[in-house]
Amino acid sequence: MSGITVLAVVSEIYPLIKTGGLADVAGALAGALAAEGVAVVTLVPGYPAVMNKINAAEAVLAAPHLFGGKARVLRAKVAGLDLFVLDAPHLFARPGGPYAGPDGRDWPDNPFRFAALCQIAARLARGECPRFRPDVVHGHDWQAGLTAAYLTYDGRPRPATVITIHNLAFQGQCPAALLAPLGLPPRAFDVEGVEYYGTIGFLKAALALSDKITTVSPAYAAEIRTPEHGMGLDGLLRARSDSLTGILNGIDDAVWNPREDAWLAAPYSIQTRQKRSQNKPALQKHFGLTVERDALLFGVVSRLAWQKGIDLILANLERIEKIGGQLAVLGSGDPPFEEAFRVAAKARPGRVAVMTGYDERTAHMIQAGADALLIPSRFEPCGLTQLCAMRYGAVPVAARVGGLMDTIIDANEMAVAAKLGTGIHFSPTTRNGLGAAIERTRKLWDTPKVFDRIRANGMKTDVSWRGPAAAYARLFRELTPAAR
Ligand code: ADP
Repeated sequence: MSGITVLAVVSEIYPLIKTGGLADVAGALAGALAAEGVAVVTLVPGYPAVMNKINAAEAVLAAPHLFGGKARVLRAKVAGLDLFVLDAPHLFARPGGPYAGPDGRDWPDNPFRFAALCQIAARLARGECPRFRPDVVHGHDWQAGLTAAYLTYDGRPRPATVITIHNLAFQGQCPAALLAPLGLPPRAFDVEGVEYYGTIGFLKAALALSDKITTVSPAYAAEIRTPEHGMGLDGLLRARSDSLTGILNGIDDAVWNPREDAWLAAPYSIQTRQKRSQNKPALQKHFGLTVERDALLFGVVSRLAWQKGIDLILANLERIEKIGGQLAVLGSGDPPFEEAFRVAAKARPGRVAVMTGYDERTAHMIQAGADALLIPSRFEPCGLTQLCAMRYGAVPVAARVGGLMDTIIDANEMAVAAKLGTGIHFSPTTRNGLGAAIERTRKLWDTPKVFDRIRANGMKTDVSWRGPAAAYARLFRELTPAAR
């Protein structure tokens, strides 16, 4: 088997810039694929957070007229990542996040910002950068969606293309009037091309025009072909069923390693997991909760968004208190949810506490100190927090949807008897569904031996990138006959 080269195209990458799991995946998958003989070079936008971390970089491609400004592509190695950075100050040198300004509103020129990323990706894909000719172009989410379109309508030979859907809720649409300004020919505006209900659809274009489509769990791959979860794209996804597969995400087991985690009061392994209990009082203190060994401590590490069922947690605070529980929430997102948790924490001192903002250390402390982690998602393409929770021995209490379905074995009676359960599932994702799961957690917790078995089973589960990376490598090889 010879090595193959992949050009990855993504709008965020850990540890340089991150708003969610997408960044984790882009960062960790590149490293894991190296072990499979796949060399990944990742094209990312040159946001300030990225530009500031580049030391030595070589300019490898010029783009003097890229949607109203001068741009260039830099090749750089940063934090173990091999990158192409699109240095286009008129598009990316701004305060705020990757997609929105400091006021939280999306940048109005987002179609051009990410079309620029895709145009450059198409040029790199065709070998315009010396000594770089990828076998496969791997785009992530809508921001990379037009890459396949630029490659298709150009008409010249192109490498194989793969698009990965991390979340179908984000599709990237813009008015049809932008077709020519985006550099797309009239024939691209077609049901078989970029047209999407009368607009231009970035993700839709990729789903129609890429050789293969993947998403981040087998269950989500099935769900998105149904009208209920297909978000308007289920018809197209059904039509492309033969090209669509689900490959689970993993987590970086060096970053998430309870044995060598400097952020923990007491690092531990599966063998020494009785030491884990020392992390609970540390977490309770960190959050200002009453230090009580016998309180069943639930944690939350999440974007505070409707998708994540945050309102259902808020609606169950009384139930958590009633069963003698506590709740430690780390999250950021919709301001009304942040405020609601602040109000709840004031009303229930010592029992409910919240920290808003993004904080890796606190996330690790929760996974190591909480007894259980609440994940009541309404939909979940894969989910990473349940993988971190299992690795750290916090029992996931999760909705039975998407990747949560594929990665957790429900500790029902049969599973407990067979010593197999790794967490608690519930369905439907409603207030009472979650409430009943909270009560079930308490019942299981009341039998420490059973609860510890569930915890140990989770800790034993392989949640690393090794299996998923091998699956991606197989897919890339299938698309590259010469490298098979
Ligand atoms: P999504 O990408 O939909 O937000 P995932 O579960 O796939 O959800 O990935 C989210 C990642 O971000 C996980 O690794 C989770 O632990 C982490 N995370 C989410 N919110 C925070 C936060 N406020 N502070 C630290 N880490 C967070």
